[in-house]
Amino acid sequence: MTKIRTRIAPSPTGDPHVGTAYIALFNTVFAKSQGGEFILRIEDTDQARSTPESEQAILDSLKWLGLNWDEGPDVGGPHGPYRQSDRKEIYQQYTQQLIDNDHAFHCFCSAERLDEVREQQRANGEDIGYDGHCMSLTAEEVQQRLAAGEQSVVRMKVPEEGTCVIKDVLRGDVEIDWKQIDMQVLMKSDGLPTYHLASVVDDHLMEISHILRGEEWISSTPKQIALYQYFGWEPPVYVHLPLLRNADKSKLSKRKNPTSVTYYRELGILPEALVNFLGMMGWTMPNGEEIFTLEDMTQAFDVNRISLGGPVFDLEKLSWLN
Ligand code: GLU
Ligand code: ZN
Repeated sequence: MTKIRTRIAPSPTGDPHVGTAYIALFNTVFAKSQGGEFILRIEDTDQARSTPESEQAILDSLKWLGLNWDEGPDVGGPHGPYRQSDRKEIYQQYTQQLIDNDHAFHCFCSAERLDEVREQQRANGEDIGYDGHCMSLTAEEVQQRLAAGEQSVVRMKVPEEGTCVIKDVLRGDVEIDWKQIDMQVLMKSDGLPTYHLASVVDDHLMEISHILRGEEWISSTPKQIALYQYFGWEPPVYVHLPLLRNADKSKLSKRKNPTSVTYYRELGILPEALVNFLGMMGWTMPNGEEIFTLEDMTQAFDVNRISLGGPVFDLEKLSWLN
């Protein structure tokens, strides 16, 4: 049997979000319940928005909650998390492989052209995304334009026919028509990868067996499955967890509930109470116990018992547990 390995891949672009802690909890508990490993990977490929302060706050909040990750580069003492900005060459190498095998192509379209295409599509009531303009360039033309220093991105191709089937442990087979999937940018003009490429390459190289993440990522999954196919890799098992909600069932938002872990910490909420509360989101203990620890949850955990009905995260209930 393959080793169970899970991960979270938060982007360090703001306060440490309770949604990140919730996903981290389920990944930790699932991995530990199976004798597996849990990995932390900082997704800092958006250079303009990522900050060291945010990264530090994410690490602090995970440690405070006792959600410790298992491996990473040696930083002299406890290991650090993996950081995607340290792995640029790896992504470039795999992007080149996709181009060489005709699964991806250079796109030289200007922002103005892409806007025009979008406008045109909107006027026609369509939403098909990139129109494939640069796919017909010959290898020679591409080389000339690159040599002339023209800016480009690399886009993935999308299968033309049929549907993508996402096998999700909680949702069964989710089918999405390939026609709805855009030719996603994989490599930006600054030489940094986008989320899709970086996460597929890393999840493969880091031998991630199960991806537990929020359901808001389901629509991204076909792009990732296409990349697994192009590389000839086995995709991981997907578990898309239910989204945290406000009491009125809308998606958890700052306006209705504070979403920063730091906020709850400063309020004097105990980490055990927050873990307990996050655990109750989508999970019930076998005997319905409302008070449980990380250890209790790990002991009892069964991924098939996660329920999908919109879990409500609100301060009133959390205070009651504290
Ligand atoms: N960076 C994404 C996030 O912030 C990762 C999504 C995933 O788990 O694939 O949640
Ligand atoms: Zn183009």
